[in-house]
Amino acid sequence: MRATATSLLNEVFGYPSFRGHQEAIIAAAMEGRDTLVLQPTGGGKSLCYQIPALLGDGTALVVSPLIALMRDQVAALEQLGIDAAYLNSTLSSGQQRQVFERLHGGTLKLLYVAPERLMQAQTLERLRSCRISLIAVDEAHCISQWGHDFREDYLALGELAEHFPGVPRMALTATATAQARQEIVERLALDEPERFVAGFDRPNIRYMVQSKVDARRQLLGFLSEHRGEPGIVYCMSRRKTEDTAKWLNDQGFDALPYHAGLDAAIRNEHQSRFLRDDGVVIVATVAFGMGIDKPDVRFVAHMDLPKSMEAYYQETGRAGRDGQPATAWMIYGLQDVVRLRQMADESAADEEFKRRERVKLDALLGWCEVTTCRRRSLLSYFDDGLEEDCGNCDVCLTPPEVFDGTEAAQKILSAVYRTGQRFGAVHVIDVLLGKDNEKVRQHGHANLSVYGIGRDLDQQQWRSILRQLIVPGLLSVDTGGYGALKLNEKSRPLLRGEVELPLRRDLLVKRKASKPKAAVPETVAEEDRDLWEALRSHRKQLADENDVPPYVIFHDSTLRQMAADKPQNAEELLAISGVGKTKLERYGEAFLGVIRAAG
Ligand code: ADP
Ligand code: ZN
Repeated sequence: MRATATSLLNEVFGYPSFRGHQEAIIAAAMEGRDTLVLQPTGGGKSLCYQIPALLGDGTALVVSPLIALMRDQVAALEQLGIDAAYLNSTLSSGQQRQVFERLHGGTLKLLYVAPERLMQAQTLERLRSCRISLIAVDEAHCISQWGHDFREDYLALGELAEHFPGVPRMALTATATAQARQEIVERLALDEPERFVAGFDRPNIRYMVQSKVDARRQLLGFLSEHRGEPGIVYCMSRRKTEDTAKWLNDQGFDALPYHAGLDAAIRNEHQSRFLRDDGVVIVATVAFGMGIDKPDVRFVAHMDLPKSMEAYYQETGRAGRDGQPATAWMIYGLQDVVRLRQMADESAADEEFKRRERVKLDALLGWCEVTTCRRRSLLSYFDDGLEEDCGNCDVCLTPPEVFDGTEAAQKILSAVYRTGQRFGAVHVIDVLLGKDNEKVRQHGHANLSVYGIGRDLDQQQWRSILRQLIVPGLLSVDTGGYGALKLNEKSRPLLRGEVELPLRRDLLVKRKASKPKAAVPETVAEEDRDLWEALRSHRKQLADENDVPPYVIFHDSTLRQMAADKPQNAEELLAISGVGKTKLERYGEAFLGVIRAAG
């Protein structure tokens, strides 16, 4: 009997039904059409090309940007009994020869390859003499300048249409605005592609954004609710990842740094500990994460602002791929705002590029300040809507208090003006607070009418207000002049009292972390805990023996269902989502043994 998409889904992957557009995407590819697939992370994009690869004659090529991760992807397919391989510089020439033999022999169903490798004349020539069933371009936004991780290597992929005429191509990405989408289609020269755009929402991710007051204490407060869980903490600089990781270790967390400046061997070790051990926190720069498909990342924390909404969405999207509750947590402050503005202005890029960067930065900064449902405005940035407030973001859970900030804003603007528009935030606030320090004395600022007129608020509050003036451009930061604050044409109406200015009152940081409510994780019932632990430890042992991450054997959700249903035989085990034929053969008896022993 010839396999169908559904029979493969059930038998090979062990899943009962398709998700979202999967079935339609597979059908379009099987009809030989080009496709553009936009789905949020965790939406199940891989199946969209893996099933056509299994159904088609010949080999499907999967273009993937990160060679470091190909190994795990191929290992996961091998665990399912699928003939897959990868081609990259880490293979010896003997190993490469073997891959080509399998390719020419026609048994290989999927071949993962990095773009630069694929587009080498030699590789292309060999591939052209093989039967290629499909070309899937993963992380397709890398071809777009509007995307956030543009890669030169991706540009050449436009030539694939000529090299492999008649072979359907599929572009996949988790994040792309309308502009980026169009750019992907054009640059890859997709032929009248059928577009599948799934909603971007990741309802299981809780979005939390706070103003930065005491970064480490805030991080600790957040992490205390996530002890023992795997997560990612993003920092701006390499130095900060190392310092923060060290400090977290002192606080009893299993934290490891990761950045491009670390020795490759150390980087690999840290990444593989994150993937393979339970509860590791990786403290990283953005060098970490692309293509990480660990499904059970429970949180992504940003200690500094990312570059854009696109980057934020991609980075936070690494949380909760398994659909279980996860949190995207971020703190940001006045300093981040000033620094990012300066970086955008000072970059060596051409004017057009800089303009785009500024637009993107402004969108992000504005989003940080919203006083309405954060998820709704996040989604609307990606041209996606939500009917109602989400109930699972900081704004929905703790609506911010809004106050009339007109008078406070006028005080700041006056202080900026009276001090000659030559000073940065720190000094302007010192003047408002009536501080007596060296700089104040040196410039004789104690004599100004604005000196000490801001004593009704404290420094943090002034910083918050200042930030909320700079973000919408009511006050400029002179990037040439060391961040000096300057009035602009938008400041005047405010100064003259012609407009009102509602501002949000930033929440004060609580001394003690409170227990979160809602979003109760789908936990294991009390009476099944021992069995769950036994299944997990057995999984870890098998994973180590096979040299793969535990989730490649079975996902948490699969083990959880085993613990609840306690299958007694092969048939009952097959009924559990995530158990397919090959895994049943390999591991079925062992897991049934664990269940029986516990019963
Ligand atoms: P993406 O690449 O879109 O981020 P993946 O392809 O890694 O997502 O899929 C996320 C997880 O969901 C994977 O573990 C995958 O096995 C699982 N998955 C995909 N499709 C289905 C389905 N139809 N039913 C159940 N689980 C699925
Ligand atoms: Zn909300």
